Order: sequence, then structure tokens, then C-alpha cells
Amino acid sequence: MFKALVVRKDAESGKTSAGVEELTLDALPEAEVTVSVEYSTLNYKDGLCIGPGGGLVRSYPHVPGIDFAGTVEASDDDRYTPGDKVVLTGWRVGEAHWGGYSQKVRAKADWLVPLPDGLDTRAAMAVGTAGFTAMLAVMALEDHGIKPGPVLVTGAAGGVGSVATAILANLGHRVAAVTGRPEQSDYLRSLGATQIVARDEINETVKRPLESETWGGCVDAVGGAMLARLLGQMEYGASVAAVGLAGGANLPATVIPFLLRGVNLLGIDSVMQPYDNRVRAWQRIAKDLPMDTLDAMVTPATLADLPDLGADILNGKVKGRVVVDVANS
Ligand code: NDP
Repeated sequence: MFKALVVRKDAESGKTSAGVEELTLDALPEAEVTVSVEYSTLNYKDGLCIGPGGGLVRSYPHVPGIDFAGTVEASDDDRYTPGDKVVLTGWRVGEAHWGGYSQKVRAKADWLVPLPDGLDTRAAMAVGTAGFTAMLAVMALEDHGIKPGPVLVTGAAGGVGSVATAILANLGHRVAAVTGRPEQSDYLRSLGATQIVARDEINETVKRPLESETWGGCVDAVGGAMLARLLGQMEYGASVAAVGLAGGANLPATVIPFLLRGVNLLGIDSVMQPYDNRVRAWQRIAKDLPMDTLDAMVTPATLADLPDLGADILNGKVKGRVVVDVANS
């Protein structure tokens, strides 16, 4: 028997509820590799999947958890043998497939990545999907050239924002962190932010499509009106790596920043990344993210804490990264 956080849907009311249950291996969906999960994390999508699903969950009962790290227990694929340490992010695990909020998981070999040198399973999950995505965003900005001005990070006190701030600062960039929580200013400075920008300052509506050229690049976890506004504040030729939509999916922008300032809008998707990119991003994380800074971002949790924390992340109340100690839940 092992423990998992199971979300069930009541057939009559259509309401979902989540709780820790004991399962046996035959309950798991078939796949080549069985992993004994040590850690998982809480991401924005997990908040959606612990609740009513928001169109992400394919069928119930469901086990959420879009990422996990652990040890291979059994494998029908030559690439993995029992005892190997592995990490998984993406591939709609925790959405279309049962995910990491379970002490045992079955996954396809193609979805797994060997744990990179320099990271243990807890550190890998302190990074998790949010941190992996932050690294992809930084790599995309680098590929297009980061300009001299400070690099803006929106949703900075959240998971993606915290890791992006720490990586960019460690690489020597000046980082302007946008937050709606002024009480997190000291935390953001401790990650390396050199400037704190109030969310309201960037959220103000302006009619002009172009403002002063201020930012040398941007990692945007918020989307919506904030993204539309900051496009007009980018330096000539600078890029925005758009990661998320915590502030809304509509983009009330004009084409002017693209036409007159050569601004690049780069979409970042962590779900379907090819294997080589995954390995490259994890290696960069091990190299470019200081582990003591990563520790400062972590709130520890167990499987039983997740129903409450899932609601918190959807309300923008979670700071940094929540790491779930699945093995000891
Ligand atoms: P978090 O909830 O940890 O962080 C989001 C942050 O955005 C909050 O902490 C808050 O930061 C800010 N925020 C929340 N609501 C609003 C609002 N209404 N207006 C403006 N700012 C707001 O989530 P994650 O960091 O895990 O994810 C961020 C986004 O990125 C989500 O939309 C998520 O789905 C997406 N994502 C996308 C991935 C991809 O592959 N493209 C992978 C991972 C995540 P503050 O308090 O500092 O203002």
C-alpha cells in the first residue's frame, strides 16, 4: 500500500473533493517505468487540478502533481534501471495522466530525465516545473539578446518569478521585480532583485502604445493588461518571454511595440520540450541557480496540506516554491 492525494468527482453534484488515500500498485495506469516518488511540488496548474480541474483533468478519480523526483523502482525500458534517480516535468502528467502526488507513479521513459549532477531530488523539486520554466525563459531571452537595461520579472514573489529573479541576478543582470505584495520586498531583494516595482504601477492603463525605453528584457508570469502595458516599455529590440497568465488571458495590446521598437514576444512552453532541451535546461539550473538562494524560496508541505495550499496558489498567496515531501507524507 502507498499514499496518494486523490481527487474524486461526485456524479450527482459534479463537485470535486481531494483527500489522501491508500492505494495499491494495480490502481496505477500502465507505463514502462515505475518510480518511487520522493518529492513533488505545488504549481499554479496543480491548484487548478486539485480543485474542479479547470478543463485540465481528463477523467476522475485523478491524482494531480505535474512534476516529481524520485528513484526508479522497476523499468521495462533499457534507458532506466532500478535505483536510477529521475525527474519529470510536463507531458501533461498530473493532468491527463496520474501525477506526482503519489508515493508510486508509472511514467513513460520518454517523459523522464536523469537527475542532473549537482542536484538531489529535493533540490530538483525546489526548482520543479516553475523553476524549469523560468530557466527556459532566461535561455530564450539569451538566444535573442538581453539589452542593457534592467530585466523585468512579473509575478516575482510567485514560483516562476522567484526562480527567474534568482537566476538572472546570479548571471549578473539587474533585476526589477514586479509584485503586488510589498511585504515581500525584502524576500525579493534577498533573491537578488535590485529594484521593486509595485504591481499597480505597471497595471495602470495608459493610452500611449509606446513609453520610455526602460527594460532590457522581461520574464512575464502574469499576462493580460500588465503584459500589454510593459510591451511599450521595452528597449529597442528587447524580448519578453511570456510564461503565464496569472493576471488574465486577454492581451489588450497594439502592434506598435513590435513595428516601431522591434520587440520580440517569445512564448514559453515547458510541457512539450524535446529531451535535449530538457537536459540542457536542467544542466543550466544546476550551474546558474545558487542552491542557498533556492533554499530561501522553499515552503515544505505534505500531501495532506495540498487541498488548502491549492486554493492559496490560485489566490496568489503562495510565496516562492512549495516542496511536497511525498515519501514522508
Ligand atoms: P504562482 O501563483 O506561484 O505565481 C504567480 C504570481 O503572479 C503571484 O505570486 C503574484 O505575484 C502574481 N499574480 C497573481 N495574480 C495576479 C493578478 N491578478 N495580477 C497580477 N499579478 C498576479 O504561480 P507560478 O509562478 O507557478 O505560475 C505563474 C504562471 O505561469 C501561471 O499562469 C502558470 O500557469 C504559468 N506557468 C506556465 C508554464 C509554461 O510552461 N508556460 C509552466 C509553469 C507555470 P506577486 O504577488 O509577486 O505580484
